[in-house]
Formats: sequence, structure tokens, C-alpha cells
Amino acid sequence: MSDTLSAPPPALELVDATRVFTRRGGLFKSAGKAVRAVDGVSLTIRAGETLGLVGESGSGKSTLGRLALRLVEPTSGRLLVDGRDVTGVSKAEMQAMRRDIQMVFQDPYGSLDPRVTIGQSIAEPLKVHGLWDSDGPQKVAGVMSLVGLDPSHADRYPHQFSGGQRQRIGIARALTLDPKILVLDEPVSALDVSIQAQIINLLQRIQRERGLSYLFIAHDLAVVRHVSHRIAVMYLGKVVEMAERDNLYRRPLHPYTVSLLAAVPIADVRMRNRRRTSVTMGEIGSATNVPPGCRFHPRCYRARLVAAAGGVPTERSGDALLPRACLIDQPALKACGGTDQVACHFPETPETRSEVATAVLQDIGYPPIRPITL
Ligand code: ADP
Repeated sequence: MSDTLSAPPPALELVDATRVFTRRGGLFKSAGKAVRAVDGVSLTIRAGETLGLVGESGSGKSTLGRLALRLVEPTSGRLLVDGRDVTGVSKAEMQAMRRDIQMVFQDPYGSLDPRVTIGQSIAEPLKVHGLWDSDGPQKVAGVMSLVGLDPSHADRYPHQFSGGQRQRIGIARALTLDPKILVLDEPVSALDVSIQAQIINLLQRIQRERGLSYLFIAHDLAVVRHVSHRIAVMYLGKVVEMAERDNLYRRPLHPYTVSLLAAVPIADVRMRNRRRTSVTMGEIGSATNVPPGCRFHPRCYRARLVAAAGGVPTERSGDALLPRACLIDQPALKACGGTDQVACHFPETPETRSEVATAVLQDIGYPPIRPITL
């Protein structure tokens, strides 16, 4: 059977999704300027799959996550849930669709009313959707047990729980309606490392038991490594690389992915001592003033190496000599072996991998990755 035939069906699809914001706030220089927070992104999450979505703060991940629930409306593009185009559906139909797709936030405390018991908070989605009946209390107790909370604590208030337990409450609330898809926006970023592992294990167990699909948003590659089947890397509104998890960590193609890998924390102290601080220059660019050509070119080590090696047309940009293509042409996301895709004029390849990428991969010790099955 071919891959296409055996692959699980798509649970969620974004097709050429774009969201443009106009900055308000008269005092700021950027006021009134358009921000292309998400700029023509297409991606698919298969049933039972976790797609990790990674990029620095400001790269458009949260906006993309919110587009998937239509908490933010797309400026253009399409959204399909379970194969059904829900881009233009009415508010009422949208409400029904939200039973299938729910969101978990970084800060559950912010989304939990301090004056309401956690049992009531977890029950709320059932009430909002008109599904509260005599089985309601049992359903609430069921999801509380599922996420490792004691159902007898349903009458307690949010402040009586630790950060990790509050995130369990946030997850329980998202699961009450028995959704098919969870958008998890930095769900463990605010937690201690030991608690992070517990929450990640919990999410994985629930996924296995319920066949859920996850869009798992994080700002670094360390957190998504164990949970993701595939990973999409975002930079200033665009997906610049999308790859099977093991490929991304062993054969990163985009220089931005290599730069993010260089920032992955390493457990082994001997390795950590050899760590290069960063291979990327400067801060993420401004979303109101996206560079022409490849938007990563001002920070790209690879563009500089390729230009210095000669053999391609080059141009000077400030202090740097860069390939002309990087300055002028916006690279499209192109297939690069199997289902992996990269948007780069000069991607790293196993054959021509630059010294920089080789050093980064050595630094992170080509980490062994335990297998995951769908
Ligand atoms: P990330 O989640 O990767 O940090 P975001 O999606 O939050 O990125 O933001 C992407 C860009 O869109 C940023 O430049 C941010 O300032 C801008 N942005 C996000 N939401 C709004 C909004 N409601 N109004 C104006 N700009 C926004």
C-alpha cells in the first residue's frame, strides 16, 4: 500500500492561510502599519498526529493556532476540519465545530475564574454548548480522573492548586466536549522542567487513548522533540521547514532550524561546555517591516558562507556579501525528500552540510530519539 493510502486522514487543514493585523496605538512608530502575522501558510494535521509548531516569539505561532479555531479570522485562505471547509460558515455552525477543536493555553490561571470552583469551570463548555444534563457531574469527574485530578476536589478554587495541577484543569476543560483536535499554545512553557515532563506524558497518554490530533506550539525545539510526529518551523509569518520529527533533528535543512537547534538545552554537561552560544545574528526582524527576498537573510550564516564560497551571483547588503537570490527572491516551500519541505535557496544537505551545521549537530550529540507510533 502506498504512503498516501495508508496515511491517516487529515483532521485539520489550513490552505494558504493569511492573517494581516493593523497595528493600533498612535504613539508607536509601527502604528497603522500592516503586520502579516501569518503569511500564506498551508499545513495538514493528520488524525492522531502531533504537529509541533516552533519559532521565536513574534513568528506568528499563536495567530496560526487561533486561526485553526477561527478565534482569529483569516484575511484569506481556507480552513478545513475533518475534510469539511469551515472557512465561511456561520457563527452557529462555528460554535458546533468548536466541539471538535479546543484550545489549551500557556497560562490556565488566566483563563480560570478565581471565584468559580474548578468543577464548574470544567463543566462550563458542556453548559455553553447546551449539553449539560444529569450525566454532567459524571462527565466532569471522568475528565478530572483522566488528567490525574482527584474528582473530590471539584469544589475547590484555582488558587488551591499548583501550576502543574492548574494546567491539568486547563486540559480537563478542553476535553469535556470530547474534541478531536487540541491546539496547545505553549502548554508547558510556564512550568518547571520536572512538571513539564509530567504534563507532556499526560498529553501523550490521552492522545493514545482518545486518538486526538494536536497542534503543539512551542518557542524552542527542546519541548516539542518528544511529542511531535512532524514539526513545522515558522519565521516571521512563514513556515520555512516542515519535516518528520527525526529528520528535522538529524538532517535540518533550513539555516533557521539549525540556529534553533543550536539553542536546544543539552543534558550532558560536558557537551554544554562545548556549546557555541548562537549561530544566528541578531534578533527576529520586525513583522511590520519584513525583509525582501528571503526574510531570514539578515540573520543567515549560510547565505554568508555560500556567498563567500563564490560561484553564485552576489550583492552587498550593509556589511555582508550575500547571494543575490537571498536578497531578491522569496523562496517557496519545496519538497525535499519524502514529505519534508524547506523554503531556502541554499538548504543544508547531508552531502554539502556546512561546518556550522555539522558543529551544531555534534554539539547536540545527534540525540537518540525514541520511536513514536501513530
Ligand atoms: P508568536 O505566537 O510566534 O509569538 P504571534 O502570533 O503572537 O507570534 O504574533 C505574530 C505577530 O503578529 C507579532 O508581530 C505580533 O505583534 C502581531 N500580532 C499578534 N496579534 C496581534 C493583534 N491582535 N494586533 C496586532 N498585531 C498582532
